Amino acid sequence: MPKYDVVIIGAGITGAMLSWKLSQYQLRTAIIEKENDVAEGATMANSAVIHVGYDPEEGTLKGELNVKGALQYPSICEKLHCAFRQTGAWIAACGAEEEAHLDLLAARADKRNIPYRWRSREEALAEEPNLSDQVTRVLDFYTTGVIYPWEVAEACIESAIGNGTELYLNAPCQHIERIGGGWRIDTPAGSFETAYVINAAGVHAEDIHAMVAESKWHSTPRKGEYYVLDDDTQPVKHIIFPVPSKEKGKGVLAIPTVHCDTLIGPNSDYLEDPDDVGTTDDGLAYVRNNIAKTLKNIPLNRSIRTFAGNRPTTTSPDFIIEEVEGAPHFIDAASIESPGIASSPAIADYIIEILSRSMKLERNENADMSRKKPPIIAEMTPEERQAQIAADPAFAKIICRCNQISEGEIVACIRKPCGARSVKGIRKRLGPGMGRCQGGFCEPKVVQILARELGISPLEVLYDGTGSNILQSENRI
Ligand SMILES: Cc1cc2nc3c(=O)[nH]c(=O)nc-3n(C[C@H](O)[C@H](O)[C@H](O)COP(=O)(O)OP(=O)(O)OC[C@H]3O[C@@H](n4cnc5c(N)ncnc54)[C@H](O)[C@@H]3O)c2cc1C
Repeated sequence: MPKYDVVIIGAGITGAMLSWKLSQYQLRTAIIEKENDVAEGATMANSAVIHVGYDPEEGTLKGELNVKGALQYPSICEKLHCAFRQTGAWIAACGAEEEAHLDLLAARADKRNIPYRWRSREEALAEEPNLSDQVTRVLDFYTTGVIYPWEVAEACIESAIGNGTELYLNAPCQHIERIGGGWRIDTPAGSFETAYVINAAGVHAEDIHAMVAESKWHSTPRKGEYYVLDDDTQPVKHIIFPVPSKEKGKGVLAIPTVHCDTLIGPNSDYLEDPDDVGTTDDGLAYVRNNIAKTLKNIPLNRSIRTFAGNRPTTTSPDFIIEEVEGAPHFIDAASIESPGIASSPAIADYIIEILSRSMKLERNENADMSRKKPPIIAEMTPEERQAQIAADPAFAKIICRCNQISEGEIVACIRKPCGARSVKGIRKRLGPGMGRCQGGFCEPKVVQILARELGISPLEVLYDGTGSNILQSENRI
């Protein structure tokens, strides 16, 4: 009998959400992830919008799962103590032709029971004075929100681990073999024997699929690049979209984030190397030129950072979520492009439905689907802060001045399940290095804390994955 019932390949939002939902059943589940941390792929770098589901075409799995998934987000985020900010999404039409397209989107929203309201140019300007002079009418999907997708993925895995799920980092799947009634997955971190395999490998899903069957679809990853504007600029209160089109997709948006900074992007360019996440002059120029259609006075000179993420697009226009022909109990969750974050809770339900056709799923009555709220000094009342500091003085020692993050918080985020193992891991979990100084002041202290907590030399502390050591040699002072 294989050791595991289910092995999930890939710890992005698809694998994370599935692992969390599976952890309510009596199953032996493992997630194997090629990187040194969870959610390092598309889930880390995207627009973070919980689209409500007006955009995907009729009759698609994308349309169905987007609507169902988005509805689950507020309660999931509450349960897992993750941020959900209901900003609303405005689709800004410029002229009669685009206004007609807004009517089509509204009709589609009616069919899907998605709430919206109309705003005239005057009404819209009263709330968003930076709308461009071309904007004539706005369709407001006011239940749209933003999350921090990385945080949700990590929280799902943390909760799943609490229910017995195993996570293996630095474990790239290199080979898959049919054994008896199941599968053996070989990685440099060991082999995993399992009854079911879920392929949730994002831009690498085709490579994994090719290990068990010939592929009828092909990967065509597309890059999206962004500017991040400083949190004191806040040029918009709502997410501002242009009217979507076949050529430009959802277009270039302005997105107020859960961290109160603002993203401007993305472009959409095909790329040869699915792991190339560098920004480009051309890509950022496209973003600058296209945001001007819907917005003016965008202070791009106040950008603190740029970044890019790669969409796991394929030749299939829809999500591919199915058991692979000729590979029993091997399930693809591929082509999970936008709205893959918004859809992920429903993608997990859909996969569980597929599993339940051939597997007996029994509830684990002891499963705890919540996650302990991490201690965040900046969010505490003065009394709570005093109590926390009295219990552990490390919470009084501020390491990150920009975001007011203490040593106690950093230590807690290393020690918890699915804890940080690198400087970037701490940055993503807590935010030191994400403020205005971008790590200039706090990073050396974070290196020291990591070395101490992991019991390694500072020379061994990684910025991110294998080989990304920050310090190269000792200083002879
Ligand atoms: C620019 C951009 C903007 C987007 N905006 C939005 C948005 O606003 N709203 C929305 O809903 N969606 C959005 N999306 C889409 C969303 O980001 C994706 O649909 C979602 O993140 C896909 O998650 P995933 O888990 O399937 O893939 P990923 O997050 O890419 O995760 C795949 C994981 O598999 C791992 N892996 C790969 N190969 C192997 C291997 N051999 N062995 C082990 N592990 C492996 C990777 O390291 C990675 O961690 C956007 C995407 C991009 C790029």
